Amino acid sequence: MLQKNRLSDYNRGQLETLRMVRRHLDTLPQAQRRVLQEKIAEYLAFRSDLDAFLQEHFSSVCTFTCYTSHRSACCSREGIITFFADVVINGLQSTEADLDTLQQVLQGSQDEDQCVYLSANGCRWRVRPIVCAMFLCDRAVKTIFENRSPLQSRWEELCRRRLLFTWPDRPVLFDELESFFIDLGCNSPLMYLHNSPGLLRVKQKSRIG
Ligand code: SF4
Repeated sequence: MLQKNRLSDYNRGQLETLRMVRRHLDTLPQAQRRVLQEKIAEYLAFRSDLDAFLQEHFSSVCTFTCYTSHRSACCSREGIITFFADVVINGLQSTEADLDTLQQVLQGSQDEDQCVYLSANGCRWRVRPIVCAMFLCDRAVKTIFENRSPLQSRWEELCRRRLLFTWPDRPVLFDELESFFIDLGCNSPLMYLHNSPGLLRVKQKSRIG
């Protein structure tokens, strides 16, 4: 396994964003922190339904092929997409010790063959990034959904629910959380809903429509 000590651009962006979010969450008045917790409550309910679905229907396949070896296809590379809102939501749901650990691994030596957040016990995030949480490999999809269309319909419903929080063709939580921190003077390469040309076009089109 190749190890490197130099901070990659990817990890630098992650580290700076994590530090920024922590700094602001630590100094926010309690009332504003409560407002943020209320804002994310519906999303957390969605994540709980998602976890229950995956646990019920995918754990048999995924435990055998991935979890026992502590890696899945999405964890086996550096550079998984994390949204700014993922960092905020995880920050709100984590302890200081959890966040210290994330900071330490981002600053430590890196294994090029796997995600920086992967530990021997799995992912170090309390609320994993949404892209990871909804990643299903082709093998699992084929094994679980084949000839089981009601199950596939339930998965598609979860995919639709995800968009209600993340896809900015209407006001969505992920955009709102970026705006909240932008108003505090923050800027991050993970603010895709404010910086990605594709997502900006989605916003633009929905305004025109
Ligand atoms: S953040 Fe966690 S779930 Fe996502 S790729 Fe890294 S270790 Fe895997």
